[in-house]
Amino acid sequence: MSPRGGPRLLQGAPIAAEIRARVRESVLAYTKRHGDSPTLAIVLVGRDAPSAVYLQQILRSCRNVGVQGRLVEVSGRVSNAGLGEVIRGLNVDPLVNGIIVQMPLPRHLELATVLDAIDPRKDIDGIHPLNAGLLALGYDGFLPATARAAVELLVRSEIDLAGKRVVVLGRSNVVGKPAAMLLLRENATVTIAHSRTRNLPSVLRDAEVVVVAVGRPGLVTGSMLRVGAVVVDVGINVVDGALVGDVDFASARSRVSAITPVPGGVGPVTNAILLTQLMTAAEEQASAGRLRGRGRPSVPLRSIH
Ligand code: NAP
Repeated sequence: MSPRGGPRLLQGAPIAAEIRARVRESVLAYTKRHGDSPTLAIVLVGRDAPSAVYLQQILRSCRNVGVQGRLVEVSGRVSNAGLGEVIRGLNVDPLVNGIIVQMPLPRHLELATVLDAIDPRKDIDGIHPLNAGLLALGYDGFLPATARAAVELLVRSEIDLAGKRVVVLGRSNVVGKPAAMLLLRENATVTIAHSRTRNLPSVLRDAEVVVVAVGRPGLVTGSMLRVGAVVVDVGINVVDGALVGDVDFASARSRVSAITPVPGGVGPVTNAILLTQLMTAAEEQASAGRLRGRGRPSVPLRSIH
C-alpha cells in the first residue's frame, strides 16, 4: 500500500534544477573558451497554441542557463522541400549547435523531411535514425529527451530498476521505444505494451514500475496498477483547459508508492535534458572544429556507453 499521506510525488522541478545547474557551469566554461555562448535553433512550422506555450518554456530554459535560443519561424504552408532547405541551412550554420523541430508538423508535411535533412550531430532530441540506431545498439548518441527524462527521473529519485518488471505503455519512436531501450540499459526486465496488447490491466498489474506514454487522459486507472508500483506518467493532455496525464491520478494515488505529477513531472526534466545534450553537441563540434581548423563540424561517433 502507499504510505499514509499518499504516495511519494516524483517532482521534476528539483531534478531539472540540478541538471540545469550543471549545464550553466558548462555554458560558462564553453563561453569562456570559445567567445560565443552555444545556440539552440528551434524550428516552428506554422502556429498553434500548445506549441507556443512549449516554445516559451524552452526559450526561458535557454535564457536561464545562458544558452541562446534562436526561434526559426516557418510558414505553415511551407513545402517539404522548403522545410528541408531551412533545416539544411541550420546544419551548416557554424553558430548553431543544436536543432529541434517542433512536433507535430502540419499534416501536409512528412516527418521523413526532417529526418532526412537534420544533421545527426546537431540532432539533440535524438530523432535521426542514426541516433536511434546508436541507442538500440547501446552506443552513446543523442537520446530522445523525453524518454531520457522519464528514466533519469527514476534513476535520480533512487528507484532501483535492476531486475525489476517494468512495463512501458506506448511504443512511439520518440518516447515509448527509446524509454524501453534506456530501461534495458538500467537492467530492468522490460515489457512494451501498446494499443494491440491483450488484457492490458493484467500486464500492467504485474509491473513493479510503469512508464505511460500514450496520450489518452486517464487511460490507466488505479485498479490496473499493482499495489506499491512506481508510476511515471509521460502523457500530456488538455482536458477542460487543464493539463492532465494518461494516468487517473485520483484512483492511482491510493495504490502506488510513487508517481510523477502532471504537470510538473517529466516535462521540466525534458527541457533540462535538451540543454545537456545541446552542450554535448557544442563541445563535440568545438573540438572537431579545432582539430580540423574550420567551422564546419565533423564529429566522430561517440564510444560505447
Ligand atoms: P504517439 O506517437 O501517439 O504514441 C502513442 C502510443 O500509445 C502508441 O504506441 C499507441 O499504440 C499507444 N496507445 C494508444 N492508445 C492506446 C490504448 N488505448 N491502450 C494502449 N496503448 C495505446 O504518442 P507519443 O508521441 O509517444 O506521446 C505520448 C504522450 O506523451 C502524449 O500525451 C504526449 O503529449 C506526451 N509527451 C510528453 C512529453 C513530455 O515532455 N512530458 C514529450 C513528448 C510527448 P500503437 O503503437 O499500437 O498505436
